[in-house]
Amino acid sequence: MAGNWKMYKTPAETTAFFEKFRPLVEKSEHCEVVICPPFTDLAAAVAAVKGSNIRIGSQNIAWAKEGAFTGEISGPMINAIGATYTLVGHSERRQYFGETDETVLKRTQAALEFGLTPIVCVGERLEERESGNTEAVLTSQFLKGIAGLTEQQFAKIVIAYEPVWAIGTGKTATPEIAADAHRAIRGQVGAKFGKAAADSTRILYGGSVKPDNVKTLMAQPEIDGVLVGGAALDAVGFASIVNF
Ligand code: PEP
Repeated sequence: MAGNWKMYKTPAETTAFFEKFRPLVEKSEHCEVVICPPFTDLAAAVAAVKGSNIRIGSQNIAWAKEGAFTGEISGPMINAIGATYTLVGHSERRQYFGETDETVLKRTQAALEFGLTPIVCVGERLEERESGNTEAVLTSQFLKGIAGLTEQQFAKIVIAYEPVWAIGTGKTATPEIAADAHRAIRGQVGAKFGKAAADSTRILYGGSVKPDNVKTLMAQPEIDGVLVGGAALDAVGFASIVNF
């Protein structure tokens, strides 16, 4: 159960969030809990979750180890601060910052090289769904991005299916729509990496997940967890999602 804070919260607000959130998920052993705050909050977040079952991730990762890449943050830097996950290829990065399937692959490989678990995001835009191209888009994102990993690398990633039309819009995909997309992605995984990989890979659903719809989504066997944006900013709300 992963939360993406996007560009919200200061370090002080981060500490206050975890003071409330941590006791609420202390006994949550059914899942891994991950929060991805902005880079500037990573240190406060790591300090706040020390000794707990909560993991911290970044929202992006450079494909290089170091160098002349103004504005980027590298895997060794994220690792050194104590984060263990990173989002890669979130649709907001694809939409506003020129992220492509090729750079998603490079960032995913960098995350793995530097010991972080990448949560790799894929998903179709509204016009792609309406024109009947959802599966083609997911296949293309998979083939140009994730399929470039080796079998060993693939075993360490988490995939997030996030239909762009459902992100921050209040329009959640129905559990059936989400499950169909997960099946399509899992089919691609099976074709490329084999049945065992398809069965064991974790695919999260993301897009307007809230405390009141998480249960029906999680009731789909295809959905292994959720990636939550807006509703992960509230400690009580996100804890009730984690403990659905
Ligand atoms: C996200 O940012 O990954 C997301 C799913 O956002 P929201 O839950 O706000 O739709």
